[in-house]
Amino acid sequence: MEKYDAIIVGGGNAGLAGAIALARSRRKVLVVDEGNPRNAVSAHAHNVLGHEGISPHKLLELGRAEATDYGVEFASARIESLSGSLEEGFIISTQASQWQAERILLATGLSDALPEIPGLQKAWGTSALHCPYCHGWEVRDQQIAILGVSEMSTHQALLFRQLSDTITYVNHAPKSLTAENRALLAAVGIEVVDAQVTDIAVSDDGQVQSLALNNGSTLGAQAVVVASQMKANASLFLGLGGDLSQNPMGEFISVNEMGATSVPGVYAAGNISNLGAMIGLATAAGTMAGAAINADLVMESAKKKLARK
Ligand SMILES: Cc1cc2nc3c(=O)[nH]c(=O)nc-3n(C[C@H](O)[C@H](O)[C@H](O)COP(=O)(O)OP(=O)(O)OC[C@H]3O[C@@H](n4cnc5c(N)ncnc54)[C@H](O)[C@@H]3O)c2cc1C
Repeated sequence: MEKYDAIIVGGGNAGLAGAIALARSRRKVLVVDEGNPRNAVSAHAHNVLGHEGISPHKLLELGRAEATDYGVEFASARIESLSGSLEEGFIISTQASQWQAERILLATGLSDALPEIPGLQKAWGTSALHCPYCHGWEVRDQQIAILGVSEMSTHQALLFRQLSDTITYVNHAPKSLTAENRALLAAVGIEVVDAQVTDIAVSDDGQVQSLALNNGSTLGAQAVVVASQMKANASLFLGLGGDLSQNPMGEFISVNEMGATSVPGVYAAGNISNLGAMIGLATAAGTMAGAAINADLVMESAKKKLARK
């Protein structure tokens, strides 16, 4: 079985950045990636320094080429299981292959669960949005409907209000809107409509046109803002006995500032450990985790050499 210093599960921004940090320290690295990054549905990525508006696929293609130049190896597959420990080493398996590693970096991202409203999935990433920093500028001054579905929805409404004067909050899940938050929305001129959305009309190219409400009315909108329920893609970590933490956005793996998880030898970076991380933060966390793994291996090897003297 081929043995690596580190195996990285997930080849998005976090995984590729971690791979480059390790390979530049002459580590033998394998990245296993099934190739379905979270923002694949969007045509452009924003707030990416030096690459403003780049296609998410192009950005990863560039990162992958840089990693390949430093000798990083790649496998296109889904990792089905992770076993082992810091003492014995780790084994990761797909249905067809197995590899061994001293350290593991989990960079498998997160899954966004959307409310089940017809049309929403079709518009997701084009004109159904969650993040003002990713897409807010692109919908500035438009008619924007906020789907009131969680305690994050008021926060989103206030942030998008910075970008447009015509914001309507549709109180789809009434329990998520407190009296205090309703007052805050009113204070900044956001109208609250107490109704559920039954359908979203979306054009073939993913543009929202209007929302049908259960009070029989139709609300015109060019964009919909929705708080997805986020869940770290953490089945491999759970299989090792790790557990998940929770915040209002969803569930994630807790790590220290270097990316180390509670399971010795296993690191995590990107959306799997920071639900709010945009590309820049995911990339930085990957670099930090890669550096931490290298430092960890350097120290282990120095101690072993000292013990042999
Ligand atoms: C619609 C949308 C638009 C966005 N737009 C922007 C934007 O404009 N600007 C910005 O900064 N941020 C944006 N983001 C956020 C951005 O997507 C994340 O910051 C980024 O994808 C996090 O990178 P990551 O490497 O942690 O995870 P990902 O990019 O999701 O990469 C994880 C990789 O791991 C792979 N994987 C998962 N499980 C396994 C497994 N078991 N085996 C093998 N591989 C596996 C996945 O297939 C994927 O390739 C957007 C998010 C969404 C949802």
